[in-house]
Amino acid sequence: MPMLTCRICGAVGPHAIVVARERMFGFGDPFDYFQCATCECLQIARVPPDLSRFYPPNYYSFADVPPAEPPGRGGVRRWLARRRAAFIVSGRDPLGRVLQAVRPAPAAAAIAERFPGVSLRDLGLHAGSRILDVGCGAGRFAHTLVTLGFREVLGVDRYIDADLAYPNGLRVRKADLSAIPPAWDLIMFHHVFEHLEDPLATLRRVRERLRPGGLCLIRLPVVAWAWEHYRTDWVQLDAPRHLYLYSDRSLALLADAAGLRVAQKVCDSTAFQFWGSEQYRKGVALMAPESYLISRRGFAPETIADFDRRAAELNRQGRGDQAAYYLTA
Ligand SMILES: [Zn+2]
Repeated sequence: MPMLTCRICGAVGPHAIVVARERMFGFGDPFDYFQCATCECLQIARVPPDLSRFYPPNYYSFADVPPAEPPGRGGVRRWLARRRAAFIVSGRDPLGRVLQAVRPAPAAAAIAERFPGVSLRDLGLHAGSRILDVGCGAGRFAHTLVTLGFREVLGVDRYIDADLAYPNGLRVRKADLSAIPPAWDLIMFHHVFEHLEDPLATLRRVRERLRPGGLCLIRLPVVAWAWEHYRTDWVQLDAPRHLYLYSDRSLALLADAAGLRVAQKVCDSTAFQFWGSEQYRKGVALMAPESYLISRRGFAPETIADFDRRAAELNRQGRGDQAAYYLTA
């Protein structure tokens, strides 16, 4: 076994190499990965010099654009929509609560997905909070936040073609985090952090850009049951795009080195860890026409329901294959 240095904790050791192939698009290129024996971070052995060809135009984050604005609404409907949004944000508006129960806004599901296990009020967020979404692609979720009434939201993504400006006022800058000035109440990374080559430098930039009492949210895949069970068929290993698959320990080490600490972890894994990995075992690419992602075929509804139940159980045990980490200074 070759001697390798963990790029997260610095441990040098003989590490077993596994060969993981590009499976999302079915390119099949092989990449060496190893799991650090000390901090348990699974990482690509060498970052390929040019990763851009592994992010083709149909890569999902580029295609996920905000919905068109609804046509102009009458004064009463607009007022009711605002009350419902006020309830989603604050949890407090009684009329908004009724409206949300009668006709749930899709935005509420997006909020629950992006902030698992907590409410916006728990997080201390209000319409005036300054929120930065790093690696937001076309800005779909940031756009949702603005629609709900958040006034100080900015998206940033290095890889979009140009700056974006939406009719609701959201702006998305084509830039690196280093170009964004402080100070933010919330800086968030939704399935972005595992793609970063320089995670410690990035977290230090986050630390410099948080307001006192500010929060950093990192949602990402983590090594847990699905990695132990499926190994290189684990769908969220996603070679070579995912450079690091963190463990609790490795993420806590990084946070500590950047002057942050993990205040809370919530597992939010889904049936995807099962059906995606089962497909890879059979050699079916995620983006193949016969993939469940594309065709919604290949797994019976009761099988998917069973996967949902098993994912919920893994999440309760803290062993789901993705999680949200809430970091504070
Ligand atoms: Zn390590």
